[in-house]
Formats: sequence, C-alpha cells, structure tokens
Amino acid sequence: MLLTITTTHQPATDLGYLLHKNPARLQTIDIAYGQAHIFYPEATAERCTAALLLDIDPIGLVRNHRGPAGEGFALEQYVNDRPYAASSFLSTALSKAFNTAMNGTCKDRPELPEVLLPLEATVAVVPAANAEQLRRLFAPLGYEIDTQAYPLDPTVPEWGESRYFTLQLRHPALRLRDLLSHLYVLIPVLDNDKHYWVNEAEADKLLHRGAAWLPQHPDREFITRRYLRNLAEFVNPTLERLLDGDEPVSPLVLAAATEADAPEPAQAKQSLHDQRLDRVAEEIRRLGARRVLDLGCGEGKLVRRLLAQPQVEHILGLDVSVRELQRAQQRLHVAEMPPRQRERLTLTQGSLLYHDPRLAGYDAAAVVEVIEHLDESRLAAFEQVVFARAQPGAVLVTTPNADYNQRYESLSAGEFRHQDHRFEWSREQFSAWAAGVAERHGYRVRIEPLGPEAGEFGTPSQLAVFER
Ligand code: SAH
Repeated sequence: MLLTITTTHQPATDLGYLLHKNPARLQTIDIAYGQAHIFYPEATAERCTAALLLDIDPIGLVRNHRGPAGEGFALEQYVNDRPYAASSFLSTALSKAFNTAMNGTCKDRPELPEVLLPLEATVAVVPAANAEQLRRLFAPLGYEIDTQAYPLDPTVPEWGESRYFTLQLRHPALRLRDLLSHLYVLIPVLDNDKHYWVNEAEADKLLHRGAAWLPQHPDREFITRRYLRNLAEFVNPTLERLLDGDEPVSPLVLAAATEADAPEPAQAKQSLHDQRLDRVAEEIRRLGARRVLDLGCGEGKLVRRLLAQPQVEHILGLDVSVRELQRAQQRLHVAEMPPRQRERLTLTQGSLLYHDPRLAGYDAAAVVEVIEHLDESRLAAFEQVVFARAQPGAVLVTTPNADYNQRYESLSAGEFRHQDHRFEWSREQFSAWAAGVAERHGYRVRIEPLGPEAGEFGTPSQLAVFER
C-alpha cells in the first residue's frame, strides 16, 4: 500500500519541515503488524513528494487474530488484501509517522502548518463500493478527484472490475494537517473491515480528527456509522457529541435566521441590524478608507452601503459560505452591474481562521456580527489572520452584548440570541479581548455602544474600532 503526498508550494521542500521527516533520509517505523517506510521520491524547490509505503505482514495478523476470520475460503487468512489495500492500518501509520504534522505543530517553522498549500495525494489502492462513493466522500471537502479502476483478473475480462481503486486527490489550497485528517478518517470508512476493533477511544479519535470538517460533511452520518462499525452504543452518542446540538444550519437558513429568529422585538430587529451596519459604514467613511474588507460579508448588506460611498475604490467581501455569497451576488445584482462598478467589488469564499494572503493591503476591515459565530478557541487564529497577517489600517468589530440579554424575555439565562452563536460576551469580556488584541498588534482601540440604551444593561450590540 502506497500513499504519496505532493506539493508544488514554493519552496516545495517545506513539506519536509511540515512532516518532520528529512527528505534526504529513508525512515522506517514499526507498527503493530508490519512496518511503514517514509521516503521522498522527489524533493526539489519546485516539487516535493513524500511517500509512505506500508508493509503489512498477513501472517502476523493471523497470529494475533487480527486477520480476516477465514469464513470465505480455506486460505483466506493467509491470502487476502490486507497488505495491499488502504485500511485502518494506514490511519495507524499516519498517526505514528506524522503525528506532529497532524496536530499542526512545526517547531522550526511555527507558521507553516497554517499555510494553505496546493496538495496532491495518491493512494494505491483503496477499496470502495464504486468510484462514485469516493467522489461522495472527498468532493465535499473541496478535492478534485481521479480514480483508476482495475479488472479483477486481466486474463478473465468477463469477471469485471475489482473493488479496488487508485485514488488521486488534488486540492488547490489546503493545510497539510487537514489532508492527513481527511485520510485518517475516510480510509477506514471506505475499507469497512468488520474485524476492526471499536471502543470509546475510537470514537474520541473520530471526534478529534473530524471536529473541523465532519459536522459540515453531507455524509457525516454514514461516515460516523462506518468508522464506528455500526455499533449503536458508540454511533449514537458520537453523532450527538459531533453535532453537539449545534447541527450546522444550511447557510440559507442561517442567513434568514440571523435576522428573523433573533428574539429581538419584531420591529426593533430590522432597525437594530440596520443601525449596526449604518454605524460601521459611517465609520468607514470617516476613516476615508479606499480599500475595504467585509469579512463574513453574508448576503452583502454592508457591501451595498459601501458601494454607495464614492471614496471606496475596492471592496473585498469574504464569507465561508458559498450559498451566502450567491445570495449576495443576486441581491446586489452583480451580473447586471456596469463594468466599472463591478470592478470595485470582489466576492470570494474563504475562512477567517486560515491565513489568506488576499486580505493584505486594505485600509479598513469590517467584521459585523461574525466573531460570535467562531468557536471561542479559534479566536486566536482569527486574531492571527486579521491583525497579525492582513493588518488593515482599521478594524471594526461588532458583537452582541450579553449583559443586555436579560432584557429579552424569550431568552433564559445563559442562552444565546441565535443558535449558531458559539458565545456571547459581556461588555467587560469584549473590552478585555479588544484591549489584548490592540496591544499585541500595535492598534489603539475604543469601544462604543450600539443600539438603544437600557440603563445598567447597556445596548444590545457593541462596536470596537481598532486603528493602527
Ligand atoms: N456581516 C454580515 C453577516 C453576519 S452573519 C451582516 O452583518 O449582515 C455571520 C456570517 O459570518 C455568515 O455569513 C457566516 O457564513 C460567516 N462566517 C462564519 N464563520 C466564518 C468564517 N470562519 N470565515 C468567514 N466567514 C464566516
């Protein structure tokens, strides 16, 4: 079984740092039923490939009762696909050989694990029901997929094709650790080996390696079932933990809900969000910003206001949700815009949690009602991306004021205004966070109340204005 990982990122030999494996050396590690060899068939500044060759010992498997049970035919215990097909042994080898890379650490080059690389991976061979199944599992993660099928026996064509494929995955911009996690989880899912041992630890591994992408995967249930070998005692609690009552809402529903479901009084709700957007737009005018980022732009309500400001030359609206961006295109009638207007605007998909060089060189960035949609534990990544790397001249961040929540009768203590909110901060929490960010990245910051004042509870929203 052979896995190769290739990048054309420059210099491509960064792959060696990322994997913590020196391209000049062949390394061999022992795994329970065989060995994994790691080597680099090519390592130049333009293109670098790391290979992991897995050598499984079928006899060792038999001795340890880990091989096929031999129900099929007399010699099945000895003659089987385990040495050749990608299976849970590959996951074991990945986590043993590339554990540091999978955890996103790189001692020598700490920034590298967050960099989005052009990556290509080839696995020879994976078992799968058919090529479509491979597509269903990998395409939602953004891969371009090629598969090669093999006849069961080239000398007996009437037997048709085998269930083994060479799988080739290509991604234009992905963190290496994400590629490794995808393979780690999905290979055993495809293999569906019923002799695979499942316990609580397996469920934890799935949650750990899948946390960042599995909840959004359309086949998350199938993946969870297969990974946990259909054992109901593990599958159900794991699905619950995975989704954590936070079933990812389709972005369309989300967009509608952000406004409509917020338990803000029916009439105030439109105007509160409009007030926020108007206030931020006003601030951008005051700053005289010409190049403006709208981060988490949603359906483009702020973009519309910015297009109306003549001093704004270019707006980059970025959102993680493709559906939101499509809505923005429609609502702003981008297709019908005159060319000069259209040139002022770029709408693009991206995540605020990963370094994105396109965000550099702007005068101001608006982040309106977005941070509370990020996991609190990922705010450090957001801070890195926006304040350390993109470094706009000014950053305008709005977020709900949790102190005000007591004013909403429909909201019990500790509950959030919207089901996709991961946290809501008091005025004190927000200002502590803002002061820390400003200090760490050379900005000064002031915080303003936003919306109608309600005595000791303050206002429903709060705005931080950071200036460099
Ligand atoms: N700023 C808009 C939308 C706010 S709703 C407005 O004020 O109208 C929050 C938006 O953040 C959603 O569109 C959601 O898709 C986006 N979002 C959530 N997580 C994100 C991430 N990691 N990167 C970029 N956008 C994200």
